[in-house]
Amino acid sequence: MTNKKSVEDINVSGKKVLVRCDFNVPLKDGVITDDSRIRGALPTIKYLLANGAAVILCSHLGRPKGEFNMKYSLAPVAAKLSEYLGIPVTLAKDVIGEDAQAKAAALKSGECMLLENVRFHAEEEKNDAEFAKKLASLADIYVNDAFGTAHRAHASTAGVADYLPAVCGYLIQKEITVMGKALADPDRPFVAILGGAKVSDKLNVINNLLTKVDTLIIGGGMAYTFLAAKGYTVGKSLLDESKIDYCREMLAKAEEKGVKLLLPVDTVCAKSFPDPIDAEIETVVVPADAIPDDMEGLDIGPKTRELFADAAASAKTVVWNGPMGVFENPVLAAGTKAVAQALADSGAITIVGGGDSAAACQSMGFGDKITHISTGGGASLEFLEGLELPGIACLNDK
Ligand code: AMP
Repeated sequence: MTNKKSVEDINVSGKKVLVRCDFNVPLKDGVITDDSRIRGALPTIKYLLANGAAVILCSHLGRPKGEFNMKYSLAPVAAKLSEYLGIPVTLAKDVIGEDAQAKAAALKSGECMLLENVRFHAEEEKNDAEFAKKLASLADIYVNDAFGTAHRAHASTAGVADYLPAVCGYLIQKEITVMGKALADPDRPFVAILGGAKVSDKLNVINNLLTKVDTLIIGGGMAYTFLAAKGYTVGKSLLDESKIDYCREMLAKAEEKGVKLLLPVDTVCAKSFPDPIDAEIETVVVPADAIPDDMEGLDIGPKTRELFADAAASAKTVVWNGPMGVFENPVLAAGTKAVAQALADSGAITIVGGGDSAAACQSMGFGDKITHISTGGGASLEFLEGLELPGIACLNDK
């Protein structure tokens, strides 16, 4: 999956290029509150414009459920793009309709336009062949640069590639180069750190990583099912009883493969889950094998922070996905912060999966000290599971 052609492997001069971006930005009252996804897309767009392409951008935004709904219009994105690119980026009134067709037909080299929200059509998420064909008919080349939706087989993320030469943009190229290398040929020791609420979300990730890593670290809510698998009682902590056997198997698999599997040795507990989530909370630290029956583990304890940070410090490659505790509460964010800090301080290649851990790294100010922060939550998890992502598999091989 890593051997895919990129924009630099194809002649784009004088061509119309359809680029699938991830412009699914947060909006409040019609104003973009975080434009990092737009800024992230600029290198690919600028490369195409500088090399004589006529650029037709497309993306989804929110969940308009297959109907035209101007609440989900990409108009604020078009305005922001015009600002960053310094040229007008016109927004078509539709996606594959008359206006889009006319504007695409008239578009010249060095010009850029944006189609309306692809999810205004239910056919998009159904990967409808006719819809994909119409979308493809607007252009000569397809570029996918939306990693966040690369695990979805939709018309604009995969279907169009049936009708056009298909290559990746710089964002997807970086994802597959950095994560692909980590999984296929990592600099060792290779340490993976998993957290988050549920074991059930990460069963296949754990299973796949156990065949690749030297050390697997498990924190967050999912750690308690592992502690239960070791025979400890976990009080009121998150526990998935149906997965205890699975965790036991994973402990055995780690031993059999010679993988060091690190679990919390102490935990920060409270009488109950904070409500609201950032409410003041009284906590105690207890050893992981002595969680009181009436308490709930909500973060890794100080000894665990040190244990995990030491493992990250001696690694050459670190992959991290999922917070170590209920980091939304400042009192329970210390574990997640310690891991983010350890990655920032380590000389290793550091890769942070999307979603909560990526947001935590950014908000704690460690963003620029991490080798690669993935732009996709679900997509990066599926990548770590070793699955083939439809939005990447559909691209032409080198
Ligand atoms: P996920 O969506 O699986 O990545 O999980 C992220 C969520 O896990 C965050 O909202 C955290 O608050 C939550 N979380 C992490 N550790 C714990 C814990 N020990 N108990 C309950 N929730 C947790």
